[in-house]
Amino acid sequence: MGVNAQARVDLDRFWDTIQTSARIGVGRPGGLARLTLTDEDRQMRDQFVNWCKQAKLEVEVDELGSIFACRPGREPDLPPVLVGSHLDTQINGGRYDGIAGVLAGLELCRTLDELDQQTKRSIVVVNWTNEEGARFSPPMAASGGFVGRYERDWIYGLADDEGKTFGDELERIGYRGTRKATGHAVDAYFELHIEQGPLLHAENKQVGIVCGGYPSHGMRVGFAGQTAHTGPTPMDLRHNALVAAARWATAVDDIGWDFAVHDGKATAARLVAWPNKAGILSETSEAVCDVRHPDAITARVMAEKMRRAAFEAGARAGCEVTIHDEWQWGGDIFDDTLVDSLRKQAQRLDYDWRDIQSQAGHDAYFLAMKYPTAMVFTPCKNGITHNNHEHCEPHDFEPGLNILLHAVVERADR
Ligand SMILES: [Zn+2]
Repeated sequence: MGVNAQARVDLDRFWDTIQTSARIGVGRPGGLARLTLTDEDRQMRDQFVNWCKQAKLEVEVDELGSIFACRPGREPDLPPVLVGSHLDTQINGGRYDGIAGVLAGLELCRTLDELDQQTKRSIVVVNWTNEEGARFSPPMAASGGFVGRYERDWIYGLADDEGKTFGDELERIGYRGTRKATGHAVDAYFELHIEQGPLLHAENKQVGIVCGGYPSHGMRVGFAGQTAHTGPTPMDLRHNALVAAARWATAVDDIGWDFAVHDGKATAARLVAWPNKAGILSETSEAVCDVRHPDAITARVMAEKMRRAAFEAGARAGCEVTIHDEWQWGGDIFDDTLVDSLRKQAQRLDYDWRDIQSQAGHDAYFLAMKYPTAMVFTPCKNGITHNNHEHCEPHDFEPGLNILLHAVVERADR
């Protein structure tokens, strides 16, 4: 059996679906603001489910709202091959990000339909809920739930800035499904994603085979102080939570500079304070920071410095420190056999490719904790991403799509 070695995806059809997605949840010019579990997210999910049904895929939604669209294999009881990514975006997101990966899975199924090919194992296209973490922290929440890293009810309780919870919003948009969140048999997981970095574009490579991810550690820290008047309160009696978080944010940034020479990076991504008004010291604040480095031990050292910096910042500002969440991912996590199968297809199809390390977090990181997993990166102009100027051309996707097609089919026929 197996798909004809000459088979290719329909690039125009893929591009059309991308363009339709680009009209849902429009943000700044050229970009998207399709935050998870909003009305715009629902609209995109509805569109995706429609496409899947037109392609005769069997659609299921799990308890965390992730969508599974199954193309049954000849032996549907075997663990399936999953292909997916995410349809949600950042508040100033681009049109391609994870979207390309979900729609790549759909295009692959459409191509197999046209070729009238049935694989041995089922192929399941997945849209993971809340990959971005832009509305509900932490990111990759639903894929984390899928592998049992996070509890379903803990995810339901995550709140956005307005106090709305993940569980309520999931219910509201009608995507709280009944399929169990975790405990599924999976043969392999493939994810295509834009690189979100400048390497492929700079080196004129058509595609990247991802062999691992930068080890990354993050934490969400709360600081507790006291409100007081900004005028008369003596400096030594202040407990300004805003200052504690700000000190931590700049300390973490300094850690990034200290390790930058070997491509270490540290990010202060978010800082909120209450009441955050003129005339009053802040009672509480919260900040989210992370560090990453190509070397796992160095990444751990950076993480330890980040943690210590939080307590030092709290002490300097006279505030109590609570670490609310901590997470880590990355490392040498992908499956050698799958990575090799992608390399082999890249070679056979004669694309100009390179091995590459992921620096961003992806749902694939969580899937890799439990199942054989691999990723393909496609180029994006100058590596600009999480920005409305994120830009790709159709030809940027062609190699990645065809490599994915053949690697997935090969695996599904196993
Ligand atoms: Zn993404």
